[in-house]
Amino acid sequence: MCKTFIYACAVFYSMPQLTEEDLAKMSPEQIAELQKQNCFFCQIGSGKAQAKMVYEDELCFAILDINPAIKGHMLLLPKEHYMILPQIPEETIKHLGVIAKKLSRTVLRALGAEGTNIFIANGAIAGQRAPHLIIHIIPRTENDSITAFDLPEKDIREEDLLKLQKMLTKKLGMNFEPQQEMKVQKSKNLEEIDLHQLRKMLI
Ligand SMILES: [Zn+2]
Repeated sequence: MCKTFIYACAVFYSMPQLTEEDLAKMSPEQIAELQKQNCFFCQIGSGKAQAKMVYEDELCFAILDINPAIKGHMLLLPKEHYMILPQIPEETIKHLGVIAKKLSRTVLRALGAEGTNIFIANGAIAGQRAPHLIIHIIPRTENDSITAFDLPEKDIREEDLLKLQKMLTKKLGMNFEPQQEMKVQKSKNLEEIDLHQLRKMLI
């Protein structure tokens, strides 16, 4: 059974009026429709539930998170009910990307933040808590005590990297010629200078 289905069911079983028997009799379309009717974020999008709206157009809307990671944490959502990334049409996800950029810039200017984290928790295992896809826009400042984005930097063998590259490029229909070994020394100082320049350009 696919994970999406399990997730959809988990969302459903929390609805007290439905039994497993009821669910088994329903078509996937009926299940999707019921889910939409019971989705809190769909209700916000259609004006039936309250939220601190900061942006809206025909395809999406953005609200302030009521339990923000930090002041200015925004949630950007498609108006249509899509649970996970693969369900979103390309045009909609492109549009969401454009609006995420706009919201990021706005929050940087308005709150004097120095950067933003923009992320999607795609699936329960990735930390998705709501059955409606959300793009988080989180303003960041130095020493803001948010630690969720401190990704570990593990070592990996060259042969494992090559194996991964081969497997993924095949799936993506890409083909890259093997590169000659290049000796490039990573300069910490240079990285810091570049990032400092970028920080000015963000705002
Ligand atoms: Zn929804």
